[in-house]
Amino acid sequence: MNFDALKQNDPRLAELLASERERRQETLDLIASENLCPKGVREAVGSILTDKYAEGYPGDRWYGGCGVIDAVERLAVDRGKQLFGCDHINVQPHSGSQANMAVYFAVLEPGATILSMDLTHGGHLTHGKKANFSGRLFHITHYGVSAETEQIDYDAVAEKAREVKPALIIGGASSYPRRIEAARLAEIAGDVGARLMIDMAHFAGLVAGGVHPDPVPVSDFVTGTTHKTMRGPRGGFVICKQEYAEAIDHAVFPGLQGGPLMHVIAGKAAAFALAMTDDFKAYQAQIVANARAMADEMASLGYRVVSGGTDTHLFLVDLTPLGLTGGQVQQWLGAAGIVLNKNVIPFDKRPSTDPSGIRIGTPSITTRGVVEDGVRQVARWIGQVLKAEAPARAAEGLRAEVLEFCRSHPIPD
Ligand code: PLP
Repeated sequence: MNFDALKQNDPRLAELLASERERRQETLDLIASENLCPKGVREAVGSILTDKYAEGYPGDRWYGGCGVIDAVERLAVDRGKQLFGCDHINVQPHSGSQANMAVYFAVLEPGATILSMDLTHGGHLTHGKKANFSGRLFHITHYGVSAETEQIDYDAVAEKAREVKPALIIGGASSYPRRIEAARLAEIAGDVGARLMIDMAHFAGLVAGGVHPDPVPVSDFVTGTTHKTMRGPRGGFVICKQEYAEAIDHAVFPGLQGGPLMHVIAGKAAAFALAMTDDFKAYQAQIVANARAMADEMASLGYRVVSGGTDTHLFLVDLTPLGLTGGQVQQWLGAAGIVLNKNVIPFDKRPSTDPSGIRIGTPSITTRGVVEDGVRQVARWIGQVLKAEAPARAAEGLRAEVLEFCRSHPIPD
């Protein structure tokens, strides 16, 4: 997109969009929740479908003129069902947060007990943070990772479930580098009469690409986002067993949302089609191979990788032994053109506002065609900044090399 109309009508905004495009081309994005969605998806999201009101569902809308819109939503639904092999998928949630909210509102009463992963061990704010609707409306209890392995101890989860008798168990996280064993969580939920929701917001692409165990067959609900590893438009979805289909649809609309974002649903349809290709499967395998190679390189340079490695698209580095904070490192690396985020690590002794870790994800750089030798190079650059006596200067010194690397791995159109 050349922003031709904006350049005419709103030069300031056109300039900002062009600056952001340049920033993306000239920096490396290691934010685990971000990706670069393909042009076809962006065309769908930037389309005239943004104009259409379509409250309701295909064949049952409140507004006229929804014939084409119905076909678009059916396409997204059919492709989603085929991709994830599920009974039912609702593609209307505006975001992952709303997808989670839909599940809670479909099957829980306010005050019901939820058992979810501790937010400081990697869980997400919609899994019960006090300031979030989830923490305000429900009785939240948590499981976490074991202090020894920094991985989920499923026996401890089972014990906690027997103790708190939750109505809903949630698996899934924002900064947990290991696989989520949904089958084990399903057993635990079954034993205590709880329902199971897997939030695969982060690893939906890995599931679609066949490189993460599939939670769909064993879960009552699986929620997700389409913009992270899925490499689609910003948005959410809910998958459920047929018996919950009506309750989920009713919770999304009219329960939580008005008109669906039909341009985004078109983008989801486009992304689901791409996710069924062999290229996408190879891409997902490369994301994981890259995360493993990069975590391995960081470890061999002497840095502490939380849980000793990764099975997914992300890993965490503990900066405690270096006496550094995540915030400092995020800022220094930003000056080198390496963009990532500070992150809490399990049992963090620092405040969550400036925690002890950084989170590193490979979806975006893998989209740029970077493979193992490239990510190992990026790890060495990070290492150079971490060990420097003057890290800010070291980062600035790397900027030209990082820029050259970015230019040799342009963002695909
Ligand atoms: N669930 C998990 C595990 C997430 O990591 C996120 C976002 O990072 C979400 C839900 C929420 O997604 P959104 O930002 O689209 O609301």
